[in-house]
Amino acid sequence: MQLRSLSLSVHASTLLMTAASIMEPNPLAAQPCRFCGQVSGIWQEPYHLDGDHTNDVADNLVASCPLCHLVQHLERPRIEEEAALIWLPAMSQRALIALARTLHLKLHAAGEPLDVAVATSRRAEACAHFYRALQELLARAAPAKTRLGTSSPRELGAALRALPAAVYARRDQLLGGLRLLPLGRLYHGDQDVYPDILATWANLARTIGGREKADAETTVA
Ligand SMILES: [Zn+2]
Ligand SMILES: [Zn+2]
Repeated sequence: MQLRSLSLSVHASTLLMTAASIMEPNPLAAQPCRFCGQVSGIWQEPYHLDGDHTNDVADNLVASCPLCHLVQHLERPRIEEEAALIWLPAMSQRALIALARTLHLKLHAAGEPLDVAVATSRRAEACAHFYRALQELLARAAPAKTRLGTSSPRELGAALRALPAAVYARRDQLLGGLRLLPLGRLYHGDQDVYPDILATWANLARTIGGREKADAETTVA
């Protein structure tokens, strides 16, 4: 599968996710994210190729995991709580999503809070290095602010929306090493559904891991 490029983006209309927008069965559930390859089961979201969230014809929809979709909706109502802008030219946006997801899954598996602001004394020693990695990523917000004048995803979204189409189309070159770091919260209305999404990712990894193990054993036998 050819992965699509993942760019910081803004849309005129937000796809407002609510409890009711989780479709069961979700027609995209079995499809990997077209931006990073992650499967997300019922949490897989429709990415509208033409940017129009009312155009639900099949040709216009590809599967996106919630984190890759977040990168493309800087206008989301609670984006400031969900993500931060950081300066990290050495790592692609796709790699950063995979790294943040892995760190969040490690902490989730240990029953630890994802928030790096939680006091050090309240954390399990075994998870200290995962927190340190998240803190170091978040510390890259300072150089983003120095270069851009802001580390606010909302302010960048507003600036991107004001650009002429031809300039907006070149935003990857203009933004250089600017990346969106997911902070471990994703809101559907007032509810943070990220813990449920993490539980689904963990389950899917176990299922896929178990199936691959069984396949390997069959091959050996
Ligand atoms: Zn993805
Ligand atoms: Zn969308």
